[in-house]
Amino acid sequence: MATVETPELWRILRAVGGDGDGWIDCSCGRRHWGLHGAAGLLVVKENVKENTVLLQHRSPSSHNGSTWGLPGGARDSGETAEEAALREAHEEAGIQGELVDIHLVHAENH
Ligand SMILES: [Zn+2]
Repeated sequence: MATVETPELWRILRAVGGDGDGWIDCSCGRRHWGLHGAAGLLVVKENVKENTVLLQHRSPSSHNGSTWGLPGGARDSGETAEEAALREAHEEAGIQGELVDIHLVHAENH
């Protein structure tokens, strides 16, 4: 039997959509995307005169489709919220994680 090293396994899982994609019926009574939770990245570009934020327009077929939101999505198992947010921001908006300074992490657990 062939073995797959963990980094390769994560690459394969991400190529097929990750192992966190799916809906979960939460104890709060709502339905959420992300079997292991979800994460998003609020990208703020600091400027001398004013700061700007990055928003993306969601596909009509996605959750809350045709609205504006943050790059983000389902966390894969074994990912921290920060890792998932950076991965999703890269996949969806081409944000290079090494250029991002994370200043604040907000978690909402329910
Ligand atoms: Zn909930």
